[in-house]
Amino acid sequence: MSERKRRASVYFIGLMISANLVGCAAEQIHTEQAAQVRKPLSVKIASDVLEGNPSPAPVKEDFDATVVETRHFYTGPPHHKPSPVGNKIAYLTFDDGPSNSTRKILHILKTYGVKATFFVIGTETSEGKALYKEIAAAGHALGNHTYSHNYNRIYKSPEAFMSDVRKLDQLLEETVGYRPDILRFPGGSNNHLSRKSGGMGVMSKVAAEVKAQGYQYFDWNVSSTDAAAPVQDRDMIIDSVLSASKGKKRIIVLMHDNTYKTTTLEALPIVIQKLKAAGFRFEKLQKSSFTFQFLGL
Ligand SMILES: [Zn+2]
Repeated sequence: MSERKRRASVYFIGLMISANLVGCAAEQIHTEQAAQVRKPLSVKIASDVLEGNPSPAPVKEDFDATVVETRHFYTGPPHHKPSPVGNKIAYLTFDDGPSNSTRKILHILKTYGVKATFFVIGTETSEGKALYKEIAAAGHALGNHTYSHNYNRIYKSPEAFMSDVRKLDQLLEETVGYRPDILRFPGGSNNHLSRKSGGMGVMSKVAAEVKAQGYQYFDWNVSSTDAAAPVQDRDMIIDSVLSASKGKKRIIVLMHDNTYKTTTLEALPIVIQKLKAAGFRFEKLQKSSFTFQFLGL
């Protein structure tokens, strides 16, 4: 190699090294800037990862850089824990329908993509039967709330109760094609009015019979209070649901499907949006779902 060529190659190699160093420096600055820019996010991820660890390992000096690298190249499942948002479930329940409000409730539920549960009573009108079908066709759950909803009649004895339940079962089977295996007692499983017709302890006997006949019954752990007044204040309904939901991961919300309960309809969209914002997703009840029972039988 001639001296001239040798010098030219040394010069060229020198140029390459310089360029590379400048490149490295630029890359380093870029990485540091990125690390700085992303620092709050990185810290958040670290605390998420460590959450629940009683004695977290000390965070390494180069943790931020590692996280930045990881976020660029890691293609596996996310490192952070799944958000608790997905673990909270709200079961909206509407009692006493069908009514003139049923279609409005169905419309709101459809608008928000929410499935709910309707604990219905017996009606032989063609409109009532059409509404049973519309509830079922929209993918909501139908539950048995007794045919007559007449406390004096149903709470006389376990046999009287089951006879009323079977009557509605029959009607629903003819109308929508199946008999629900979920049930709600009129007044809830701890209602005191039942004592007038069936005596003390009748609810325990009725609840045991219901279970023996293959049904699951559901009370509620969140009341909308929409039955506390003929037309409850709309904001009272919203506030009652939200305050009773705090700290719970499963909520069964009591509401009513009633022609005159117009504020329940007004509150419903807001209740749904606020529960969503609080991290709840919505499901319909099934026999195997979480239940809440005042009697606990
Ligand atoms: Zn009822």
